[in-house]
Amino acid sequence: MYYKRRIKKGPIIFIAIFILIIILVICGINLYKYYTSDEYLLSKAGYNESEIQSILKFDEKYITYAKEHKYEDDFIPLIKEKYFLWKNYDEYIKYIDDVYEDKKVDYSKVISLVNVGANYEPYTHTKKADMDKGYAILVNKYTSLPEKYAPDDVVEMSNWYSYPGNSIRKDVYDAFKEMFNAAKEEGLTLIVNSSYRTYEVQKEIYDDYDDNRGREYADKYAARPDFSEHQTGLSIDIFSPGSNMESFEGTDEFKWLSENSYKYGFILRYPKDKEDITGYNYEAWHYRYVGKDLAKKVYDSDLTYDEYYAYYLDN
Ligand SMILES: [Zn+2]
Repeated sequence: MYYKRRIKKGPIIFIAIFILIIILVICGINLYKYYTSDEYLLSKAGYNESEIQSILKFDEKYITYAKEHKYEDDFIPLIKEKYFLWKNYDEYIKYIDDVYEDKKVDYSKVISLVNVGANYEPYTHTKKADMDKGYAILVNKYTSLPEKYAPDDVVEMSNWYSYPGNSIRKDVYDAFKEMFNAAKEEGLTLIVNSSYRTYEVQKEIYDDYDDNRGREYADKYAARPDFSEHQTGLSIDIFSPGSNMESFEGTDEFKWLSENSYKYGFILRYPKDKEDITGYNYEAWHYRYVGKDLAKKVYDSDLTYDEYYAYYLDN
């Protein structure tokens, strides 16, 4: 009996050591898991519990960024913005640092401006328009047409639809006629005042202002050649007979266009209160053809075309 009991101690010690090792391994794994967890690394970066919970709801690349960088108080407010673009993150931060200092940051504004490039002065940091986009091309003070661009399908407009001397690209003309007739049925009259402008004409207009009133004035009231939407052959200035730049906004024709132009492929290109985004004063009369499908999307988005393009078409 005594002999038998002694002999059993060997396996017991062995089993005890084995269990101990298992416990140590499990503890080790758990510790490793803890110290490499998103929660731990984010808290080490400086985020508090509720901030960590909101970061964890985002895409992996945002979580990785937050883990690998020191705490940034603009990080969460920025990524929460609907039109946040990851590729612009450094630009957002730079713009916030330059402009806001101790002021309360308007994140949605920062996103809009940086997305369209308007965090820089007009005509600086320019790039070439992506002409493969067809009727969706973007042309603004940061995006230029190919040098001396001229579309090859421009047709003259009848005086039934426009003041003398107007011409426009064929598809835009057809779309305008359809819109004109629909407005006519409501007893409204649309008339085109300005449409396609060649490089030469745009240059003349700009140079004339520049020579007589200086560059600042010229840039305020005219687009530089190759940077004008009118040179695309896709833009028209629409008025009602007798109205002008001051009065058009108050007309029934304007009201009708505001609610219906998108159905015919046109969008209001320079809306009110968006001057710092579009780079242009509010123009109730300037409509841009983008095609029906896209016009509806832009209309529904409630964005300027510059913002829409930056987020949905150039992303
Ligand atoms: Zn115009």
